[in-house]
Amino acid sequence: MQAFLEAIQAGASGEEIGNLPLPESYRGALVKAEEQEMFAGLESGDKDPRKSLRVEDVAIPELAPDEAYVAVMASSINFNTVWTSIFEPLSTFGFLKRLGKESVWGKRHDLPYHVVGSDASGVVVRVGSAVRNWKPGDRVVVHCNYVDDQDPTAHDDSMLAANQRIWGFESNFGGLADLALVKANQLMPKPAHLSWEEAAVNALCNSTSYRMLVSKNGAQMKQGDVVLIWGASGGLGGYACQYVLNGGGIPIGVVSSPDKVKLLNDLGVEAVIDRRAENYRFWSDEHTQDESEWRRFGKDVRKLAGEDPHIVFEHPGRQTMGASVFTCARGGTVVTCAATSGYMIEYDNRHLWMKLKSIKSSHFANYKEAWDANRLIAKGMIQPILSAVHPLVDVGEAAYQVHKNLHEGKIGVLCLAPGAGQGIEDPEFRAKVGEDKITLFRTHGA
Ligand code: NDP
Repeated sequence: MQAFLEAIQAGASGEEIGNLPLPESYRGALVKAEEQEMFAGLESGDKDPRKSLRVEDVAIPELAPDEAYVAVMASSINFNTVWTSIFEPLSTFGFLKRLGKESVWGKRHDLPYHVVGSDASGVVVRVGSAVRNWKPGDRVVVHCNYVDDQDPTAHDDSMLAANQRIWGFESNFGGLADLALVKANQLMPKPAHLSWEEAAVNALCNSTSYRMLVSKNGAQMKQGDVVLIWGASGGLGGYACQYVLNGGGIPIGVVSSPDKVKLLNDLGVEAVIDRRAENYRFWSDEHTQDESEWRRFGKDVRKLAGEDPHIVFEHPGRQTMGASVFTCARGGTVVTCAATSGYMIEYDNRHLWMKLKSIKSSHFANYKEAWDANRLIAKGMIQPILSAVHPLVDVGEAAYQVHKNLHEGKIGVLCLAPGAGQGIEDPEFRAKVGEDKITLFRTHGA
């Protein structure tokens, strides 16, 4: 892939890039099927991605007519790579097996290794014969909604497609690699004012937060809505705060350190709760929730906002869902996309039905939503929340940081890009948006 890197850096034309020979193999971050039992008997927190995630050379898969190869300059760590690396709640090899049974092209994915990663920025180096809108040389970012567009169920909201998958999690050949295999309908233009790693960290979390809060498929936040955001300086939360501020809402962030409180204040979120300092104990033991603690939390939120939240942005799951349903305003919406702390959820249904609250489920974003969310990044209206960068060889450490909640925002991973800060094509627009805004999460605390 070195020849592609040199060509990209030298400003080679699309035709020149398209004529470069493809190598037989490429470097990718992967887990191995033969190691999927390696953490058997350990608690989640003791399962270490640094042991399971390896960087090795793998063979280039064949290109289907509707696909493209992307030379990946940078990628990012998403929580789904943490799940894959600790083989929880399921080993992702089951997903690959299922995809393998679906079609001839699906069969390529069913391998004894899983190249992971659900974000990428880079350059298209080849396109399949059916690809119309993209060509070699195009600078792109990749979103992770992987759908079969010949399936009729994919044509209302593609997140409702019967065989919708998340690329690099439920499919192979993901973005934490020097080359990625993607469907053409995963490609979006790279925001020209961002570096490779700044561009690489957005698509998954930014699109998810967009759907949850802004899209007609989510909570449809309106001006003046109070929005309670769990994990407000994390991957999803960092974008959620920006959507609430941009849309004229009133964000209330929940985080777990004074440093994160300061970061959110700098982002423009005035009302922030440090959950660790407040020491909420929503569960008095493994089986019992403590309503008085929900009440204490609800009062703290109301004190900050003057009213109950119209929307609760929920993803921690088991630990917080009871409190989220309780705290949400009468007629309000708890929008949920995840369950980091456990997916068997308990809440008091009386608080839901008597006060006419709703729980709205959400999962990633369809192409249009991802495109619209990317457009806001390209317009400088939503900022990347890159906080740290690791080289691909340190992917295990990068995933470990996210697994142990030692990070803020998003962690970027340099794949082909030899260093940070490269790939900015429009420095004038960057200056207009503001270096301090673009790099807030990176420079905070430095
Ligand atoms: P991050 O780890 O970047 O951020 C999550 C934040 O949640 C943490 O920073 C932490 O913030 C907070 N948190 C974690 N555990 C708890 C807890 N027990 N109680 C309260 N807060 C907690 O992850 P992401 O934001 O990227 O992802 C969050 C979840 O959403 C993951 O499970 C991920 O798999 C899922 N996800 C789902 C998507 C979908 O499409 N369905 C898309 C993207 C992510 P703090 O400690 O500061 O409070």
